[in-house]
Amino acid sequence: METWQKLLQASITRPGALTRKYGVDPHPLEEVAEQYPMRINPYYLGLIKEVDDPIWRQAVPSEQELQDSVCPSDPLEEENQSPIPNLVHRYPDRVLFQVSSECAMYCRFCTRKRKVGGENMMINRATIENGLRYIRAHAEVRDVILSGGDPLLLSDERLDSILSELRAIPHVEIIRIGSRIPVVLPQRVTMGLIRVLRKYHPIYLNTHFNHPDEITETAAKACARLANAGIPLGNQSVLLRGVNDDPAVMKRLMQKLLAIRVRPYYIFQADMVQGTNHFRTSVEEGLEIMRALRGHTSGLCVPAYVIDAPGGGGKIPLLPDYLQSIGDEVVLKNYLGNPYSYKNVLPAPPGIEPLRVANVGRRRSGARER
Ligand SMILES: *Cc1c(COP(=O)(O)O)cnc(C)c1O
Ligand code: SF4
Repeated sequence: METWQKLLQASITRPGALTRKYGVDPHPLEEVAEQYPMRINPYYLGLIKEVDDPIWRQAVPSEQELQDSVCPSDPLEEENQSPIPNLVHRYPDRVLFQVSSECAMYCRFCTRKRKVGGENMMINRATIENGLRYIRAHAEVRDVILSGGDPLLLSDERLDSILSELRAIPHVEIIRIGSRIPVVLPQRVTMGLIRVLRKYHPIYLNTHFNHPDEITETAAKACARLANAGIPLGNQSVLLRGVNDDPAVMKRLMQKLLAIRVRPYYIFQADMVQGTNHFRTSVEEGLEIMRALRGHTSGLCVPAYVIDAPGGGGKIPLLPDYLQSIGDEVVLKNYLGNPYSYKNVLPAPPGIEPLRVANVGRRRSGARER
């Protein structure tokens, strides 16, 4: 058995052992762990420094999970946008394909809390075969995101087989993997795994660091292996109360990510997921964090801040107000709050039809008639 498998097997799945050690009453938490699974492997457990610190809050069940009367269970309507189980087809040219129901640590704020790690998330050879069949039949799908759960919890052999099936589909241009493994169980990034992944380029991997304390030497080594194999690494953080809802913490996180060759891609406003209401912050706090990044540190550190729209509308970017007004002059505010203006290109004078996409099309077809 490999190290990562042993670590996974040694995970804590009941609050008792852990909370007693820290002098916290485990009884109310037992009920929480029954409804929403708990799994903290020894590696991630070792990152906890004290009760309720940012690592603890991500991993240890809280009574507040059962007190959420605000959020629905599937706010992004993923199930509605799944033409077949475990495959979300929301956007025109890409799909999110769930190939694993398990994770190496069950994040308390998970967007798929309704099903990840539970019995109602059924993934097996047949569902994966169905997903592949769907992708083969839909030539518009040029980007496949392997997700879950965590796809990197599959065995090397299973991953190899899924990736080779995907690569055999001519219209699939890129394959992305969404995985928290580099954060929560970096030991899983073995040379064996790397040998599998590197056969199927272009492969992109988006991981999910939320706090600078998660960037350990072991995590850095896992990311280096992936990057050395030619896999561009991105990061999707979630803005979480009591974890990273602080401009200084978020800035440090983004900077440390670049140092391990992970490019910040998204900061998500926390989804309205049942059982996670206590993690949500205001949108103003998110905008404040973005304001503290842009201009104040490397542009490479600045991801897009997005809300994944309730109702399944997809990711919508949010930007602090740099644009004050737009007309003949574009009035702007820079990162220090100082005003600047840019002379706009004037619209065409009256009488001349503005060039619109529709006109271009009409003219072209006119030309063909002649
Ligand atoms: C986030 C997401 C994607 C990918 O979005 P990008 O902006 O291309 O990274 C695709 N499908 C679903 C359902 C998603 O939630
Ligand atoms: S790793 Fe991702 S899918 Fe798994 S519990 Fe965490 S947020 Fe959810």
